[in-house]
Amino acid sequence: MTESTYRIQGATGEWEVVIGLEVHAQITTQAKLFSGAATAFGAEPNTQVSLVDAAMPGMLPVPNRECIRQAVRTGMAINAQINKYSRFDRKNYFYADLPQGYQISQLYHPIVGEGQIEISLDDKNPEADVKTIGIERIHVEQDAGKLMHDQHPTRSYVDLNRSGVALMEIVSRPDMRSPAEAGAYLSKLRTILRYVGSCDGNMDQGSMRADVNVSVRKPGEEFGTRTETKNVNSVRFVMQAIEHEANRQIDVLESGGKIVQETRLFDPDSGTTRSMRSKEDAHDYRYFPDPDLLPLELDDAFLAECRASLPELPDAKRHRYEKELGLSPYNAGVLTADADTARWFETLIAASAAKQGKAEGDVAKAAANWLLSELFGALNKLGKELGDSPVSPEAAAELLALVGDGTISGSIAKQVLEKMLETGDGAAAIVEREGLKQTSDTGAIEAAVAKILADNADKVEQYKAGKEALFGFFVGQTMKAMQGKANPQMVNELLKKMLS
Ligand code: ADP
Ligand code: MG
Repeated sequence: MTESTYRIQGATGEWEVVIGLEVHAQITTQAKLFSGAATAFGAEPNTQVSLVDAAMPGMLPVPNRECIRQAVRTGMAINAQINKYSRFDRKNYFYADLPQGYQISQLYHPIVGEGQIEISLDDKNPEADVKTIGIERIHVEQDAGKLMHDQHPTRSYVDLNRSGVALMEIVSRPDMRSPAEAGAYLSKLRTILRYVGSCDGNMDQGSMRADVNVSVRKPGEEFGTRTETKNVNSVRFVMQAIEHEANRQIDVLESGGKIVQETRLFDPDSGTTRSMRSKEDAHDYRYFPDPDLLPLELDDAFLAECRASLPELPDAKRHRYEKELGLSPYNAGVLTADADTARWFETLIAASAAKQGKAEGDVAKAAANWLLSELFGALNKLGKELGDSPVSPEAAAELLALVGDGTISGSIAKQVLEKMLETGDGAAAIVEREGLKQTSDTGAIEAAVAKILADNADKVEQYKAGKEALFGFFVGQTMKAMQGKANPQMVNELLKKMLS
C-alpha cells in the first residue's frame, strides 16, 4: 500500500500521522468473565449483578471457560501466537464504578501475542492494495460498572450490570498512517470478530470501542509523543478524532509548543478532542498477579477444538468467491464484508444451483449482481436490512430460476421482486397470476417491431445514415410496446434483421 498518500500540509512542511488503536471488544457470552451473572444488553440497572461482580468480601472469581475460548479463537483468526501460559493481574485504582478497587486484567502474560490484520483502501480491488497492520497482543480483562449523573437534583447512580463483563483488549502496533487506514482497520477487525462470533461488534451499544493513539512527525523522523483519545465508539468518530487530533498537534508543534502525553476525550457533537488528564497525574496501578486465580494453562486438545471451530474467515472467503465463483473483486469484497450477507448469498447460490440443475459457479455471478443491485436496492427503499428481508434466499432462487430459463426477462424480474416484497407470494405464482411470462412468439414480436419502425420513420433514416446509437431506442420502444414481456434476444435479432 502506498504510504505517501496521506500527508497534512503545515506551515513548516508536510506532516505524517502515526496511529495505534487499543480496541475493547466485549466477548459474546451468556455469563461474565468470573461469575455466572448474565450479560444481556439493555437490562434494568443492577439486575445482572452477582456477589462476585458487586465485590462482596470473600467472593472468589472463577474463570469462564467460554470467554477464554473466544479470546483464543479470536487470536487464531488474526494469525496470532497463542500463549499456552497466561496469567491474570490486578490493576489497582479507586473509582465508584469499580467496587473491587481493582480490575482483573493481564499485563505481564497476555493470552494472545503477536498477530496481524490485512487491510485495503481499494474497494474496487481489495487485493491490489493490501497493507498489514501488526497486532501486539490481545488480553482478557473485566469491564467496570457505569456511573449515571442526574442534574436535577444533582445525584449520581451506579449500574453494575457491566461490572465483570469479559472484554478482549486488542492492541495494534502504531502501523496506521491515515484516518482512512484506521477506519479500514477497525472495520476489518469488526468483520473478523463477527465472523468468529467472539464479539457482536455493535459499537453503538458499547460492545466495541477504541482508544485512539495519535502522534505526528515529519516523514522519516522518529515517532513523536502521542496522545490517547479514550472510548471512541464509531468508525466515523475514530476517523474524526484522528483528523482533529493530528491537526491540533501540528498547530501546537508549529507554534513552538510541545505535545504532552495525555488522555483525551472525543466530543462527537463538535468532532474535537479535549484533555482529560495528563500522564503526570496518571495512576500507578501497582499491578500484581491476582492471588485468587491460578495461571491459565491451555492444553493441545483445547487449542485444537478452538481451531477446528473457526469458520471460513473473510479474506479466505473473498478469495474463494473470486477464484471459484468468478465474482469481481468488488462484489466478492462487499459480499464477504459481513458474515450474515455472505451466509445469505451462499444459501441463495446453493438453492439456485439446485433449482437450475447447475453448478454454484454457474449461477453465482448472476445471483451476486441481483443481490447487490436489485434486492439491496429494493430493501433500501423499504428501509429494511437483508436480515429482515421479507424475501428468503430460497424464494429469491425461484425468481432467479425464472430469469435463468427465460420464463421472464430481467426487467420483469424487477416487477416480480416488488410484488414478492409486497405480498410475500412466490415468484412463479406472481408470474402466473399477472401473466408476466416472457413471449418468444416471433409473430407478435415482429408485429411490434414493424409498428415501431413505421411510427419512427425519421429515426430509421438517421439510423441507416449511421446513427447506430438509435438501436437502443428501438429496443426500448419494442420492449415497452410488449410490456416488457418480449424475449430481449429475439427483439435484438428481429430488429437487426428488419433494419438491415
Ligand atoms: P502503553 O504501555 O503506555 O499503553 P503501548 O506501547 O502499549 O503504550 O502502546 C499503546 C498504544 O499506543 C498501541 O496501540 C500503540 O500502537 C500506540 N502507540 C505507541 N506509540 C505511539 C506513537 N508514537 N504514536 C501513535 N501511537 C502509538
Ligand atoms: Mg496500553
